[in-house]
Amino acid sequence: MKRIALFPGSFDPFTKGHEDIVLRGLTLFDEIIVAIGYNSSKSQRYFPIDFMVDKIKATFIDYPNISVHTFSELTAEFARRNNAKYLLRGLRNTTDFEYENSIAQVNRNLNKDLESVFLITSPQFASINSSIIREVHRYNGDVSSMIPYKL
Ligand code: ADP
Repeated sequence: MKRIALFPGSFDPFTKGHEDIVLRGLTLFDEIIVAIGYNSSKSQRYFPIDFMVDKIKATFIDYPNISVHTFSELTAEFARRNNAKYLLRGLRNTTDFEYENSIAQVNRNLNKDLESVFLITSPQFASINSSIIREVHRYNGDVSSMIPYKL
């Protein structure tokens, strides 16, 4: 059976830190689904969702085993519908750990077959953070060193 992992997130925007987690995840899984979660009732994204889907697809154009989707339902349910038995997440620091620890417990309760797998950030990407990229971009700063595609 294929090992399918879901890499869910807001990806507003998708960063080099995210790209690193996905590429390292390929050593563990046969297929990775990058899934942008959104809430249609309060879609207050900075980068539009369709724009980001295109950019992530372009980033992984050479990888037929990486697909990109959007979803607006429980992550555990989206994983079940896509036969993903693993949730891939990245950890940068203890703040990430506290948050990831709680959502992993909730997701496991919602779907007993779903195992969360965490990769520790590569040091060169540890400081990359989507909200900082949004701030820099908002004031016309150069964010090209933090993202794996051209805006
Ligand atoms: P969410 O809104 O679910 O927190 P994000 O888009 O912020 O989604 O991040 C998705 C996942 O990527 C999370 O597990 C987050 O901890 C991880 N992540 C974010 N930035 C980095 C980075 N620079 N290095 C490694 N993992 C990261």
